[in-house]
Amino acid sequence: MKDSEYTWTIADKREETPNVYTFSLMMDIPRPNFIAGQYLTIKLPGYNPVEGKAYSISSAPHEKHVTLSVKKIGNFSAEILAKEIGDTIITTAPYGFFYPEEDDADTLVFLAGGIGITPCISSIDQLSHDKDNRLLHLFYSNQTVADIVFHERLLELANQNKNFAYHSYITRQADVPTPHDKGRINVPDILEKLPTPRSATFFICGGMYFTRDLWKTLRSASIPAENIYTEGFF
Ligand SMILES: Cc1cc2nc3c(=O)[nH]c(=O)nc-3n(C[C@H](O)[C@H](O)[C@H](O)COP(=O)(O)OP(=O)(O)OC[C@H]3O[C@@H](n4cnc5c(N)ncnc54)[C@H](O)[C@@H]3O)c2cc1C
Repeated sequence: MKDSEYTWTIADKREETPNVYTFSLMMDIPRPNFIAGQYLTIKLPGYNPVEGKAYSISSAPHEKHVTLSVKKIGNFSAEILAKEIGDTIITTAPYGFFYPEEDDADTLVFLAGGIGITPCISSIDQLSHDKDNRLLHLFYSNQTVADIVFHERLLELANQNKNFAYHSYITRQADVPTPHDKGRINVPDILEKLPTPRSATFFICGGMYFTRDLWKTLRSASIPAENIYTEGFF
């Protein structure tokens, strides 16, 4: 094993949606610590890029297992999804800076697109577990209701933590049932829901276009750049 390289064993594999699976990972030695919002870089021998690809940790640090939730996109993700319970996964150490700091604002706003929910749910879960008393909002966009990853877990977190509000947006389904909203995440609507939007801290995570467009729209609405964190999945 190279320095800061970890070999995990898959303890569980769970279907979240038809093309997203969550892997629970364990190891014989004590697992590395991580901050909610960080990612692991998975290395697949024989696959490019040799340095691996990033996957955000979808569990929270207070939980026993580390989980990664992987969406089937191209060859690399398909190879991960072909793994089964008992197989191993090699990763680098947890890394990344997409997480709230203790001195961030009283309102934390997460904007997630599709599989971009992974680092957001880790932070929301950990903040709720820590009984952090800041207001948490999640605005979560998916094409259809069937694409939503972690809907039940998010409802449960909203039920447990009265400071957490979960708003779901569905962009490509004719009939959208309650409690979901039809259409894209709408920045003016979001800002109206916040007590002090210009001092809130925003966390945007999703595909490159989703992340870039929301960042630009927030900036056009005079949200200071230093109040916006982004994690673009590419
Ligand atoms: C910091 C970070 C954290 C990440 N966390 C996760 C995670 O928790 N779960 C996860 O499944 N992936 C995550 N990703 C994305 C992951 O690293 C890979 O890029 C992804 O699995 C696609 O790799 P691939 O080789 O299978 O597909 P590729 O062959 O790279 O992709 C095929 C095509 O799909 C496009 N594409 C890539 N990703 C997406 C996407 N999300 N939505 C739409 N189109 C896309 C590519 O631009 C390309 O044109 C993360 C990326 C980063 C940078």
